[in-house]
Amino acid sequence: MASRGITLHPSGHHPSTLPTKTFDVIIIGAGPVANFAEERLARSGLSVAIVSAELYGGDCHYFACVPSKALLRPLEALTASKSIGGTVTNAQLDISAIFKRRDKIVSEWNDNEVISAQSDAWGTTLVRGFGRINGAKKVTVQPHGEEERYELTAKHAVIVSTGSTHILPPIPGIENLEEGKELWNNRDATASNVVPKQLIILGAGAVSFLFDLIPLEPYAAFANGTCDIRSAPRWQPSIPVSVLKLPWSHPQRPSSRELSQKHQSSYSRA
Ligand SMILES: Cc1cc2nc3c(=O)[nH]c(=O)nc-3n(C[C@H](O)[C@H](O)[C@H](O)COP(=O)(O)OP(=O)(O)OC[C@H]3O[C@@H](n4cnc5c(N)ncnc54)[C@H](O)[C@@H]3O)c2cc1C
Repeated sequence: MASRGITLHPSGHHPSTLPTKTFDVIIIGAGPVANFAEERLARSGLSVAIVSAELYGGDCHYFACVPSKALLRPLEALTASKSIGGTVTNAQLDISAIFKRRDKIVSEWNDNEVISAQSDAWGTTLVRGFGRINGAKKVTVQPHGEEERYELTAKHAVIVSTGSTHILPPIPGIENLEEGKELWNNRDATASNVVPKQLIILGAGAVSFLFDLIPLEPYAAFANGTCDIRSAPRWQPSIPVSVLKLPWSHPQRPSSRELSQKHQSSYSRA
């Protein structure tokens, strides 16, 4: 992440600058779930502090829902226009333009615009730092890279909406891979601006399904070859038709099953 220059902990909104440390409600986390509560509480006239360890907007805006769909959309548009016939000849995906468009859609991983459209507009108070519960209706906030913790008090309630993070399962050898380079998590995959020469996807859930579409379709046009290993039967998606309309296979791409068999047998030989 650092190599991409993404700042997860911008300065500003430091807890030491708060005019008051008491709020009706304190929300820990600043993703879509927190934002939903934040807006409704503010509209009902309550004072709200929102404690955010990373970028305001959470994973959805910067590393999950939004960038993944931004990466998929050009392929979908190209496929749709080709299917009409008579509209497009020899059109190709431009991977650097796709990355640029994605960067713009995720606000270049800068949360200023999102803050002014949401937190500022709703009159809530953003506090940057890692939140901890320190007793009944007490929350401490520790700014990134600092030792000191600042205590906030909630008159009514504390909401915990801290989302989730990826885990690394105990796969033998995984500890030898450098995370962010040789080993991608979902953040690395949605924020990447390089096309991997080869990519192995482990897992067969919803996120894996998205990455199956993203890298193996548009990236495949630019990469020397991609591959796909699944440790479980293909996930049966119940997702919007607009996504399902995307083509499943790249012309030169072997089927998942062929790849799976190939790689499983090479693993069993090893
Ligand atoms: C690739 C991908 C694609 C996805 N696409 C979709 C989609 O199209 N549609 C959809 O509905 N969902 C999608 N999801 C799921 C969606 O991203 C999550 O469901 C959603 O982000 C969860 O929101 P949240 O508010 O619970 O948590 P998050 O978005 O994870 O936000 C939680 C925030 O809390 C912060 N935080 C954590 N601990 C603390 C702490 N102690 N103090 C302060 N802050 C803290 C985190 O830094 C984070 O910013 C996708 C997920 C992935 C990985």
